Parts: sequence; C-alpha cells; structure tokens
Amino acid sequence: MTDTFAGLEVVNSYADLPSSFYTRLVPQPLNNPRLLHANPEVGHLLGLSAEALAKPEFLDVVSGNTPLPGGQSLAAVYSGHQFGVWAGQLGDGRAHLLGEVVSASGNWELQLKGSGRTPYSRMGDGRAVLRSSVREYLASEAMAGLGIPTTRALALVVADDPVYRETVETAAVVARVSPSFVRFGSFEQWYGSPENLRVLLNYVVDRHYPECREAPSGEASGEEGTILRFMQAVAVRTAHLMADWQTVGFCHGVMNTDNMSILGLTIDYGPYGFMDAFQVNHVCNHSDTQGRYAWNAQPSVAHWNLYRLASPMLSLGVDAEAMKTALRHYESAFMDRYRANLCRKLGLASWRDNDDKLVDDWWQLLHTQKADFTLSFRSLAEAPADPEGFVQRFADGEEARAWLNQYLERLGVDRLAGGAQGDEAGRIKRMNRANPLYILRNHLAEGAIRAASAGDASEIETLLMLLRDPYTPRAGYEAYAAEPPQWADSLAVSCSS
Ligand code: AMP
Ligand code: MG
Repeated sequence: MTDTFAGLEVVNSYADLPSSFYTRLVPQPLNNPRLLHANPEVGHLLGLSAEALAKPEFLDVVSGNTPLPGGQSLAAVYSGHQFGVWAGQLGDGRAHLLGEVVSASGNWELQLKGSGRTPYSRMGDGRAVLRSSVREYLASEAMAGLGIPTTRALALVVADDPVYRETVETAAVVARVSPSFVRFGSFEQWYGSPENLRVLLNYVVDRHYPECREAPSGEASGEEGTILRFMQAVAVRTAHLMADWQTVGFCHGVMNTDNMSILGLTIDYGPYGFMDAFQVNHVCNHSDTQGRYAWNAQPSVAHWNLYRLASPMLSLGVDAEAMKTALRHYESAFMDRYRANLCRKLGLASWRDNDDKLVDDWWQLLHTQKADFTLSFRSLAEAPADPEGFVQRFADGEEARAWLNQYLERLGVDRLAGGAQGDEAGRIKRMNRANPLYILRNHLAEGAIRAASAGDASEIETLLMLLRDPYTPRAGYEAYAAEPPQWADSLAVSCSS
C-alpha cells in the first residue's frame, strides 16, 4: 500500500496503441472541486492506503485538475448502435482515461467521467451532473456487493461549475476503474479498417482473453480460430452478465453497443433501475418510449448486440456459419447461469425439468400482483416455516397460496432425493445469501442525491455500508429494506445525465 499516486506503478497500454484510437488530452479543470466521497475498497484494489485518499493530491488527481503521475491522459474513440440504429462515431465525449495502475490485484485503468470536452463530445458539454454521478457511484458498488461483474468507483468529486440540463445543475466527476473500458463499439469503430481492427483484437485478446489463442484439437488455429473462440468467450461472459441482471431485477436502461463492455462488465450507469414492483416489461429509462430495453428484452438485446460485434469480425474473413455456432453458446450459457442463479434463490438443490413451470408461475405471480422483486425473493427462505406470512405479502392470497403449494412440493422433492429431512437451517441460510435484503432502489439513491446536493455524503456512506453486503440485516436500517414510499412513484430517470 502506498500513500500517494506517485507510489503506484502506472503504465499506459492503451496510449501505446496507434494514435487513431484516441486523442491525447488532459481533463478540463473544475472550479473549487471537493471530494464528496472516496472508496477505500477500490483504493485498496489499486494499492492506495486509506491515508492516500485523504490527501489533497488525491483530490487533485481524481478531479482532473492535475495529471496522474506517470499517466498519459486520453479520450478513446468508439462507435455504436444506439436504440437499434447505427450511430456512427461516438467516443469518450466526457471521459478521460488517466492511465493504468499495476497492482497486486491486477491492472486497473483509471478513468474520469464528467471531466470535460473532448473531440468526441459532439453537441455535449463534456460534463456530468451530480445526480447521475451519485447514481453511478452507488450502483457500481452495489453491483460489486451483489457479486455481479461491473466497473468500480474510486471517488466522487463535486464542483462549483454549473451544468445546464433541464435546469441548472452541479458538475461532478466519478473516478472509475476497470481492467478495460473497451466496448463492443470500440470494435465497430474499425469496420472497414482491418489493420486497426486487428490491432484492437490482438490488444484485447492478449490482455484479457489469452486462452483464446490456443486451439484445442479439432479447432481452427490462426486468426480465424482465435476470433471464433474470442467471440464465444465474450458471448458467454455477456450471457452470464445478463442472467445476473435478470435475477436481481436490474434494468440497464441504455443497452446500446457502445455501453456493452467487451469484458462482460456492467458499464455506463445512466437511467438504470433495480425494480421495486415486478413488471415483466418494466422500462426504467423514461427516454426509452418504445420499451426497447425493457427488463424482459435485455437478454435478447445483448444477443443482438453480439451480432453487431460479430459484424466487423466477419469482415476479417471469418466463416459466417462458424461465427453463428460460436454465438449460439450465448443461449446455453445464459440458461445455465439463469437456472443456477434461480436454484440458489429458490433454495433448490439443482434444476429439474418441471422447474421452468415453477419459475414461470413465480414471475407471473409477481407480475400480476405487482409484488416487490427483492422482498418477494427474500421472503422465500422463511415461506415453508411461515406460509401465512408469505401469502399475506400478496394482494391475491389464493394465487400466492397456489404457487406456494407448488413450491413446497418442489422442496419436498429435494428433501426426498436428499434421503432425509434435509437441512432446513442450512437452506434458509444459503437462500438468505442468495437473495439480498437491501437493493439500490431509486428512492434510496434519490435520498443520497438530495443530501449530497447539500454537501452531505452521509447517505452515500450509509448506502455503501448496506450494499457492500446486502444480504446481512442491520439493526436500525429497517427502512432501507422496505418497499418504496409513495413519493418514489414520481421519480423518473432519463438519458439526461
Ligand atoms: P451514454 O448514452 O451516456 O453512454 O453516451 C453516449 C455518447 O454520448 C458517448 O459517446 C458519450 O461520451 C456521449 N455523451 C453523453 N453525455 C455527454 C456530455 N454531456 N458531453 C459530451 N458527450 C456526452
Ligand atoms: Mg456510454
């Protein structure tokens, strides 16, 4: 652990790529930046001590006002499909990659978001508002607490600069870290430029997918084989991410290909939402009027996005049928992970043929009764011991009782197969480690935003404490595990950020 950024080893592998991949430039300074919050967990990942985060030098770097020692700051170029339509060149319009920290936990790129204009800003101002920055800061750490792949957040900075959205808001910067910020759209950028496409492919494969270089017997060696194995690996990681999102009720909101991580991480938190009342076609982003990115559409959208990623690869001469075969792994990887997650959440020993019906009926019950996603799953552990308590959670007790009977019968099948009465205490414990009690509900984030707007980070601190381990009940924090209050109905999140 070191007390200063200068004590870290910093490399610049992305800056070593050809200059067409980025523009070197420094962040635009902020006026009177203040450190609203620093995250010691992520500091630790980088090798920074808790003391380091309290030093003025830390704020200077994470606000973008002084360079990261040893870093070569840049904004990366990428393209993408937005809402199903080719949008052409996009890029880091308000983000600066500061450099790549080499630490005991691996290599971590450090990137500022909201750090000013770049050649890729198009009509934007290069800034991010406090509201959306608090939401990104909290959500990435909430995801990590749930064990779901995500970029992480190191620090949250607020400044005096006004930012003009629907109203005048406050500028903020999130310092985020990830092994890589390369997106599907980074590859789409080089459709028609095979040389650059190969450079990016080799860069990503060497650093993050080295196993794809090795051809198992019977598989093609050389570039085509590597690409096919790479695409399969990306498909599998993406499928696992989608299964994880679905089973915590997370909606990303803007699953454009420029917001899809090549590492299968959750990236670019904007108008996301963790569902309160379950609606199978819930749309969290008020700008998404067509419902393209509804909860139940996410898995198929990700698959569609993989095909957009495949398109530049095919231009390198990869066989289209072989590519389809590689991408077909998406469906099985999704189903395997989805079922494994649901087994853990429902407390089932393993997936059985009829479980599709049990799960479909469960979603149906939650949907028709607008039941709370998180608390309904959480209530399952105690349902066998307290069936009345379970049934009373639902508006229509009969429908709930019918499903519960089906569920209890299913648990009985596992008990019989186990050859004994089963380990009830163990089952309850395991289920309560699979079904979070606390989740980053919109109204909780809103409470943290309101306090942060007044310079008070205590709500952020409280939420991080709860969300880092969202499974363990904490005395005195019952309100944070409750369904949303009425005023939460009026909260709307949109692409404005
Ligand atoms: P998003 O949908 O937030 O992931 O952003 C899509 C594209 O718009 C990316 O290229 C962003 O860098 C860019 N962008 C979003 N907001 C701004 C902004 N305020 N200023 C400049 N570029 C932006
Ligand atoms: Mg984005």
